[in-house]
Amino acid sequence: VARVRGLVRDFDGRRVLDGLDLDIAPGEFVALLGRSGSGKSTLLRALAGLDRGVQGELITKGTIAVAFQEPRLVPWKRVLANVFLGLRHPDPKAAARAALAEVGLTERADAWPLTLSGGEAQRASLARALVREPDLLLLDEPFSALDALTRITIHRLVIDLWQRRRPGVLLVTHDVDEALRLADRVLVLGEGRIAHESRIDLPRPRRNDHPHLLALRDTL
Ligand code: ATP
Ligand code: MG
Repeated sequence: VARVRGLVRDFDGRRVLDGLDLDIAPGEFVALLGRSGSGKSTLLRALAGLDRGVQGELITKGTIAVAFQEPRLVPWKRVLANVFLGLRHPDPKAAARAALAEVGLTERADAWPLTLSGGEAQRASLARALVREPDLLLLDEPFSALDALTRITIHRLVIDLWQRRRPGVLLVTHDVDEALRLADRVLVLGEGRIAHESRIDLPRPRRNDHPHLLALRDTL
């Protein structure tokens, strides 16, 4: 669903992406790790077609949905309306309600975005991405503000949804265990390129203490 070759992005004369190559196969779940400031969000914005300043070859197929690092909800629309905003669907409201139910936010559907907690806003943003049933789902640290229990529930949910609908996923995360648990392939961004890559050939659900994962963890 995505093919990237030689992607370059400069900010004020500083090279953040430096000839980056990346492929995401249809239905593949890819996790992207990397230090703060390494260019993960920059790459996601480029993939989403939101950055006019990138150079290189960038091909994506089908619908793309993004959940940004900071949930970007429209403050003057209620949560439900945010989820179906711009959605093409025979019954957008019903679809949005179903998506909110999936992320456990049914009771916040009529709330104003500014009254949501950080984790609730992230989940609303995730619902807005999921309801689009994209071919490529770009997730920028969507679980960082969640408590440990909600995070486990959301992991389960994301894997369930992914197994049902099989979008390509690129998940940016700082959590190595999360990456190893969810993804088929784990990438590390460094020096403006994919500096490391591990393929994870274990069935789901995965336990974090599997020897294969522990070994991979040490290589990252
Ligand atoms: P984090 O893990 O903290 O979210 P990141 O890997 O997502 O980091 P980016 O947000 O992609 O990092 O930023 C990479 C670098 O590019 C940073 O040094 C950042 O300051 C710079 N940068 C990003 N966007 C811009 C911009 N619009 N103008 C100038 N510099 C930018
Ligand atoms: Mg970022």
